[in-house]
Amino acid sequence: MSSTHGTTVTAGPEPGPTPPEETAATGEAGARPEALAAVVRRALALLPADALITDHARLRTYECDGLAHYRVTPALVVLPETAEQLAAVVQACAQERVPFVARGSGTGLSGGALPRADGVLVVTSRMRSIRELRPEDQRAVVEPGVINLDVSKAAAPHGYYYAPDPSSQQICSIGGNVAENSGGAHCLKYGFTTNHVLGVELATPDGDLVQLGGLAPDAPGYDLLGTVVGSEGTLGVATSVTVRLVRLPEQVRTVLAGFPSTDEAGAATSAIIGAGIVPAAIEMMDALSIEAAEAAVHCGYPAGAGAVLVIELDGAEVEVEHEFGEVERHCRANGAFELRVATDATERALIWKGRKSAFAAVGRISPDYIVQDGVIPRTALPGVLRAINDLASSSGVRVANVFHAGDGNLHPLVLFDESVPGEGEDAERVSGAILDLCINAGGSITGEHGVGIDKAAYMPRMFTDEDLDTMQMVRCAFDPNNIANPGKVFPTPRLCGEVPGRHKGAHPLQEAGLAEVY
Ligand SMILES: Cc1cc2nc3c(=O)[nH]c(=O)nc-3n(C[C@H](O)[C@H](O)[C@H](O)COP(=O)(O)OP(=O)(O)OC[C@H]3O[C@@H](n4cnc5c(N)ncnc54)[C@H](O)[C@@H]3O)c2cc1C
Repeated sequence: MSSTHGTTVTAGPEPGPTPPEETAATGEAGARPEALAAVVRRALALLPADALITDHARLRTYECDGLAHYRVTPALVVLPETAEQLAAVVQACAQERVPFVARGSGTGLSGGALPRADGVLVVTSRMRSIRELRPEDQRAVVEPGVINLDVSKAAAPHGYYYAPDPSSQQICSIGGNVAENSGGAHCLKYGFTTNHVLGVELATPDGDLVQLGGLAPDAPGYDLLGTVVGSEGTLGVATSVTVRLVRLPEQVRTVLAGFPSTDEAGAATSAIIGAGIVPAAIEMMDALSIEAAEAAVHCGYPAGAGAVLVIELDGAEVEVEHEFGEVERHCRANGAFELRVATDATERALIWKGRKSAFAAVGRISPDYIVQDGVIPRTALPGVLRAINDLASSSGVRVANVFHAGDGNLHPLVLFDESVPGEGEDAERVSGAILDLCINAGGSITGEHGVGIDKAAYMPRMFTDEDLDTMQMVRCAFDPNNIANPGKVFPTPRLCGEVPGRHKGAHPLQEAGLAEVY
């Protein structure tokens, strides 16, 4: 993974984030050996000895996630097999005030699972059982380490699948998906992880096991489940997840459309969706990413295309047939010069192979690159893509675009060669400027990969101090000791005792000594 994602991803007027061991911004207090020893003792009393890793060489296996530029060796790795074991470890951390970081498969691209040198890495890879498969309820209850694709494989014989499909679905975990609110090619029609998670059993940062949501479609009270989904491991560790299963479609049609440029491909995307058609997926690749994919997997995309769209329609046969006619019409009307329909599973797989291999394939045309992840309103696609092209031309930095066009989730791949002085910095500048383009177009600094350590410095570009303070209050309500994945998501390590919400002054109840803010 380091060969494909091995670099800083953010840049811009502010300096990019500094690796945590070098900065106070992560709140890293320095290892406290006696506290860690107490955690080890308590863990050993409850877990088998092989569930603890303390050997330095083995600890290093966990020093980074998919954002391999950041590396920190954890003080301790724990591999619990049950929710109770996991909660007990978290409880020990809470009692000793030792920070902990949850890790699923470590494929995250924003450094969310980056360990703490003074803390415990709680890895869920031994919690991989599908506890319940309930096709009659269209639900499954799974442990957090279950691999995304394995849910669909288990549900397929019953005619169901799990819809959110990150491109990493063969290796990423459901717990990681929940923490990142992960998306994927088919989230355009079916929604993101948050739309498919009905319940989470959570080990809270003080080590209690609580159930948020469950098998029923709605629960009274505040939407704490919604708060936890996408919270990047800062509110606790998911120990079990209840997911929605979706019926396998009667028919699937995959179309590859070649366009002269991203302008036309972007316009076709807007026209299709504007016509009321919501394909299961619309993915776009520009000329540079097509070149890379061709070199890597020989996917046979239309020669001379400045952009391709991979459009997938699914549903009832009659509906798919009708929509296919409409999609064809909108593609042609917007300049598509070639349309290829997959006639069997092999052709469909080949069309998807080009798209799904694109990130890795770019490694063939550039020794290093930054995977950017921003999101914009779909209608802004042509303008923002043009602006990215202008940025690339004026800076001399090559940018390959491969992304979920249907929901405006861009993944510009900013290419450079680390061995050439200055190229890395130029790439970071372009990468940061792309995020500014996204924000200015009404979008966001992350579409699906999360903030993690990578984009924490960008949060103030999107949110006011008051917004960030409000988020901190939520975090403090779950984790007053700031031990759950500290240093991630937020730009400053405000502690709960620092009273977030300082701009508003003390509440009259505080002044009267009747309530305190924590
Ligand atoms: C080639 C490639 C393609 C990708 N494509 C996509 C894509 O299409 N869409 C997309 O959204 N992402 C994509 N990703 C990013 C990544 O796969 C997702 O973010 C994924 O959800 C991470 O899962 P993981 O198990 O690897 O989590 P990790 O990397 O282990 O952790 C990610 C975050 O989740 C937290 N976490 C992990 N487990 C738990 C838990 N049980 N409870 C609480 N917090 C937890 C961690 O602390 C961390 O903050 C891609 C990554 C790669 C390498």
